[in-house]
Amino acid sequence: MRHRSFPRFHVTKIQYFIFAIACCSILALGFFSFTQSNSTIEKAKVLSDVETPAASIIFTQRETLVYATRLAQWSNGGTSRRSVQIARNILAQRLAVIDTSGRSMGERAQAPYWTALNAADKIVASAPPGVLPEATHSEINGEISPIIDEILAQSRALVVSYQRTVDREMVNNAKRVAEQDRRNLFLFFIFIITGTLFLLLNARTNFKNYRIASEKIEEEQLQLDKTLADLKAAEQAVIELQDINETKNAFISTVNHELRTPLTSIIGYIDLVRELREENPSADLSQYLEILDRNAQILLHVVESILSISKIDSNKGHKATEKVEINQIIDNAMFIMAPAIEKSSQKITFKADEELFVEGDPGQLNQVFINLLGNANKFSPRGSLIEVSLNSTTLKGGYEFARIVVQDLGIGIPKEDIENLATRFFRAKNTDSGQYPGTGLGLAIVQEILDLHRGKLTIESTLGEGTKITVLIPLYLSDYEKLIRERSSDVIERAIHALEDASPATAHSVTHTIGGAIGLYGFEEAAQELLKYSKTLDSGGADLEGFEIEKNRLVTLLKRAAEEMGNKTHE
Ligand code: ADP
Repeated sequence: MRHRSFPRFHVTKIQYFIFAIACCSILALGFFSFTQSNSTIEKAKVLSDVETPAASIIFTQRETLVYATRLAQWSNGGTSRRSVQIARNILAQRLAVIDTSGRSMGERAQAPYWTALNAADKIVASAPPGVLPEATHSEINGEISPIIDEILAQSRALVVSYQRTVDREMVNNAKRVAEQDRRNLFLFFIFIITGTLFLLLNARTNFKNYRIASEKIEEEQLQLDKTLADLKAAEQAVIELQDINETKNAFISTVNHELRTPLTSIIGYIDLVRELREENPSADLSQYLEILDRNAQILLHVVESILSISKIDSNKGHKATEKVEINQIIDNAMFIMAPAIEKSSQKITFKADEELFVEGDPGQLNQVFINLLGNANKFSPRGSLIEVSLNSTTLKGGYEFARIVVQDLGIGIPKEDIENLATRFFRAKNTDSGQYPGTGLGLAIVQEILDLHRGKLTIESTLGEGTKITVLIPLYLSDYEKLIRERSSDVIERAIHALEDASPATAHSVTHTIGGAIGLYGFEEAAQELLKYSKTLDSGGADLEGFEIEKNRLVTLLKRAAEEMGNKTHE
């Protein structure tokens, strides 16, 4: 068998490229999401960084206010220099405290703040200890007031500038996060777009491959089926040849026996005649000559029958297709058998309703009726009536046949022997005594000829009353009629497949279509059932359960119709 290459899963260069972009974008997205989680931690740190200095600034501002208040009270003689110095020390300590950012409040303060503090320190240091004497109030007040104002202004500036820094940090942070989010969104879009593009393009490429592959598999399957069918046919042929060989061997040994019996008798009687002749040349030999003649006739009959059988066997492959008028054939057979029938004083009638034509070999068909009439004559008493009738009949599937009935009032056949009568050399129990000469080949020949003509043989008989033999032969079909026959077998097969494949959704249209089609080819009963079911459905479809039951019923109906037709064609 030829080896075929099947298309495999395939990715083009462009698809690889797109796939690479999708991978890069998802990797980048992963990476950035990871780093962004770090930046969230940073943001939290920024906030905590902001909070500690903020608290520190609030405390510094409070100490600055306390110090400024003490200065103002001191310059008005409201408190001692000592309490001013204590407030200054507390403020100094506050300014020296280092916060989480590693800087002290003193470092954050602007130069004018320090200048004002230094100026105030100098004034306080040069003043007398304790409460200021009243005389110095206005002078000190004049000096210290602008400095107090400057200290307060600078402390406010410290808060404002710190607030600005914090705001700037927060805005920057927000901007950075927004930037990261935008970038991540962009990467996500790139991933979605390239991923979808890759899937679509790859699905298109591989769907094409899938279709090619399934077509190839179907081809392979067909090839395999064909090979298998060939093998089966070869196997069947071998079996048939073996059967033929066995039948041939059995036939030869039976023929041997059948020829030997009359020949032995002939040779025996010839010796007897010779001896009688020697003893008495004028002896009456007519009785022996009669026996010799009967045996020679039997021998001739056996040889003729064997020749007929071997002719039929060798012609089995060739179908005779002549248009034969069956009335004529029966007339011929009756003409040939007339002397024998007359000799037995029997009467024969032939009733034909019409002129009928069959397809076949006139010689072989003649042989059929000669054999049947010969038996009717042979196995019926003198003076009895033999009736032959011909009419046409139509069987299921629309097949028309010529029906010929040969009825006699003879000895009949035992029931148990009827089914074996068409076996070569078989003779019924009531006829093998020697009273009725015969070979047991006549009905075998009839059966084989009818097989070749797709005909049928039926034997009905009552022992002691008579025998009725019915022969059916298909009527002659024109080429057109044959074509219709062939088509109808094709149509019914396809209808079965279509119905088996139908689903509830397609039930309405399928049953309607095939119902119409098979009706045209003579399957009226099945067609009507299909159309009736189709009418019960609207075009929307059927419910699943009901459909399955109805489908099985209709498929069985169609199969039966096909079978009936097949039987008729092969019979
Ligand atoms: P043959 O007539 O040479 O014996 P056939 O094959 O023609 O062989 O018939 C087989 C047997 O069938 C006969 O031997 C006979 O027993 C039986 N038979 C056939 N036709 C008739 C008939 N019309 N009446 C009675 N028996 C019959």
